[in-house]
Amino acid sequence: IYILAIESSCDDTSAAILCNNKVLSNVVTTQEIHRQYGGVVPELASRAHQQNIVPVVHQALAKANIDKKQLSAIAFTRGPGLMGSLLVGTSFAKSMALGLNIPLIEVNHMEAHILAHFIDDEEMVAPSFPFLAMTISGGHTQIVKVNDYFDMEVLGETLDDAVGEAFDKSAKLMGLPYPGGPLVDKHAKNGNPHTFKFPKPKVEGLNFSFSGLKTSILYFLQRETKENPNFVEENIDDFCASVQYTILEILMGKLELAAEQTGIKQVAIGGGVAANSGIRARLTEAQEKLGWKTYIPKFQYCTDNAGMIGIVGYLKFKEGLFTNQSIAAKARYAIGS
Ligand code: ATP
Ligand code: FE
Repeated sequence: IYILAIESSCDDTSAAILCNNKVLSNVVTTQEIHRQYGGVVPELASRAHQQNIVPVVHQALAKANIDKKQLSAIAFTRGPGLMGSLLVGTSFAKSMALGLNIPLIEVNHMEAHILAHFIDDEEMVAPSFPFLAMTISGGHTQIVKVNDYFDMEVLGETLDDAVGEAFDKSAKLMGLPYPGGPLVDKHAKNGNPHTFKFPKPKVEGLNFSFSGLKTSILYFLQRETKENPNFVEENIDDFCASVQYTILEILMGKLELAAEQTGIKQVAIGGGVAANSGIRARLTEAQEKLGWKTYIPKFQYCTDNAGMIGIVGYLKFKEGLFTNQSIAAKARYAIGS
């Protein structure tokens, strides 16, 4: 089975070719235009998708050495995401499937972040059901109980900002360019995580909140730079380490609570923030300390990519879960709906 997968939910245009569960190619074009605005500008994103989509699909086919006539189906991200961006991928997938007269498969982006664990799973090392998945990305922060490929239950999620936003907004306050998450990670490696203290939000149960952290960082920086204008430059490593430590404490606290409440010790993470070296270390630590079995997708399948859309495409293909030409993009699209 050859699947062409298309992802265009936010600011990355991506196409992948899979042969069964194996990724043959996974082309990702990052849109540089947003950098100068310090965040994704939706209208510019959809225009860039329109320019990128044809060359990206061509490249994915060429890299995989596959002719489009060999394709068994086309999978695409239906949502959640930016409407204008989703429309480009959705319309492209629909017309190409119509032209080739092959099945069309719609994919929920957040389910794909979770099912990315099943890519290239030759050694069957992927988690077995049920497992807990914490999806930590630029737009979401969720703890999901995964009973089966297409049977997922959201146990908790953020009430305001996503964790990726918390990273990016903190970075922006320090004057770091967008997206700041990876830069915070880089600086944190050289810093002391206990230098500065930030309050943790008081949110009941398995839900998260990150907007308060952003505000306390803002006030903290305003206070410190008033006394020392070079505060940020002089303390960037310790500051990043302390911010990252606070975020990781919040994430791990909720994840431990979820494991306790459900009795599930198989724990997976996914989404762009799963690329963070700190969370990776904390998860490895939890294997020994808490007896968990933990799963982290390969780096390239953490941030937005069409490979993860393709694996869901393959899993749905096997079940005959196709959609028709009347399908529309869905900006808000809850897991399991
Ligand atoms: P969603 O999947 O919710 O629609 P998205 O697709 O925009 O959101 P992803 O591409 O999954 O999000 O993740 C992007 C986020 O991950 C950004 O906020 C980025 O800063 C963050 N990120 C990437 N690498 C790291 C890292 N090493 N440390 C911290 N954050 C990181
Ligand atoms: Fe994403």
